Amino acid sequence: MTRFIFITGGVVSSLGKGLGSAALGALLQARGYKVRLCKLDPYLNVDPGTMSPFQHGEVFVTDDGAETDLDLGHYERFTGNPACQNDNVTTGRIYTDVLSKERRGDYLGATVQVIPHVTDEIKDFIREKDGTADFVLCEIGGTVGDIESLPFLEAIRQFGNEMGRERALFLHVTLLPYIPAAGELKTKPTQHSVKELMAVGIRPRILLCRADREIEEEELRKIALFCNIDENKVIPALDASSIYEVPLTYHKEGLDVQVLDAFGLEAGEEPDLSEWERIVRRIQNPETEVTIGVVGKYTNLADSYKSLNEALTHGGIANKAKVKIKFIEATLFDEDEGDIAHELQGVNGILVPGGFGERGAEGKIKAAQYAREKKIPYFGICFGLQMAVLEAARHLAGVTEANSTEFSNKGEHVVGLMTEWTKDNQTEKRSSETDLGGTMRLGAYPAALKPGSKVAEIYGSNEVSERHRHRYEVNINYKEKLEEAGFIMSGTSPDGTLPEICERSDHPWFIGVQYHPELKSKPFDPHPLFVSFIKAALEQGKLV
Ligand code: GLN
Repeated sequence: MTRFIFITGGVVSSLGKGLGSAALGALLQARGYKVRLCKLDPYLNVDPGTMSPFQHGEVFVTDDGAETDLDLGHYERFTGNPACQNDNVTTGRIYTDVLSKERRGDYLGATVQVIPHVTDEIKDFIREKDGTADFVLCEIGGTVGDIESLPFLEAIRQFGNEMGRERALFLHVTLLPYIPAAGELKTKPTQHSVKELMAVGIRPRILLCRADREIEEEELRKIALFCNIDENKVIPALDASSIYEVPLTYHKEGLDVQVLDAFGLEAGEEPDLSEWERIVRRIQNPETEVTIGVVGKYTNLADSYKSLNEALTHGGIANKAKVKIKFIEATLFDEDEGDIAHELQGVNGILVPGGFGERGAEGKIKAAQYAREKKIPYFGICFGLQMAVLEAARHLAGVTEANSTEFSNKGEHVVGLMTEWTKDNQTEKRSSETDLGGTMRLGAYPAALKPGSKVAEIYGSNEVSERHRHRYEVNINYKEKLEEAGFIMSGTSPDGTLPEICERSDHPWFIGVQYHPELKSKPFDPHPLFVSFIKAALEQGKLV
């Protein structure tokens, strides 16, 4: 029997609902249950694919090619279950489906309304998960009280009613702000936010109270009394030193036991959390330290590079090292005035992550050149590979006008718009006129690695599958010229037409990949490329 846990948030956004959901998923999993996590997002975009990383943070791509909310990344990293298209839905997607049904005449002449048509569509999305796991954890994006989330709240209210208390549970994440003048944590915003939920017919049975300091018993009792919740189900959720500590701290506060109790289930034996303990121990007691310079363009918002930051941390855990990330604005070097040597001073490795558009491109090319010339480990991801290729083409292969069609129609297009490729034995076609949303080369594709190459050695395999999200590609016709310049294409699509990986043979560690390895890295299963990159950066650190 599948049980459903709905997770809502109150008081403020950025409460860590996604992390909380992921941590609860991991705890239930550690108790031997099969879990599935999904997210309902109230915004009108059909998916976050067209949203700026500054607004929405990273776009997490699934194996089956969906561009999804970054919380799915947390779910995947914490449970090890690969996320998929059907784990995320937005208001935009729901309305698109409702409106196409209306146009097809599926509603048989009915007046199409938010209730029941939109709410039914949302319930179908949830119900489809019935039978796929013991627990389905369903996070509702946004904050209770937002206009946008109302149809979702109405849908989960109806769903909860249909399922009954034995199969549906509402868990509300809230905040207790500390007011210095009063010297105490305040419970009133929590009371109001629970009232807001009750007003739409949802009665939470568990409260997860975020706070930056110890919550007094007295306060917890007060919340329980005012919010009509069992005392032991008002659970403190204090800030943790690392996100990987969250499952352990929530377990200590009894979250998993109380969730099971709410469903009338016995908790039984203690779960085995030794893997989480090991990871946290490693993070808290590093033997050494390394600094990675990330030359990107969305450096003001840490969420823009969420999976990347995590993958670097995982690489550090595997090497018993603390990874310090220094974000460097690529636009600083777009013009000549930026002093690249000064900015990159002291970094042990340079990483150019994924990116879009012209702004910052020349700066990234300079970063690749600097890494190549100074023999500093270089990791180019997607755009970071494309810029390293342009650098090699311009400065080593004699293609001085090398450029990408993404930002210039002048020069020689060593990187160009991808117009045709194969997915599951079918040809996908695109042109410059195609819509921007959802039309990139997206999701998992296999790559064949060159036997004996550095990447084949790192992966320990000659065939890999990795997730893509790009519209442009390196033109394979430049293979020979680039290889003569020491830039080896050590991975391609299995048919040999699309370059996937390039590496330098005359450099301690210089690898560019067309895909996003960071999306598949997990704390207990770090991605081999990140493990190897951090190892190379540590060695570089010993040289200076
Ligand atoms: N802008 C480049 C492309 O579309 C790279 C994309 C990326 O880095 N994810 O091909």
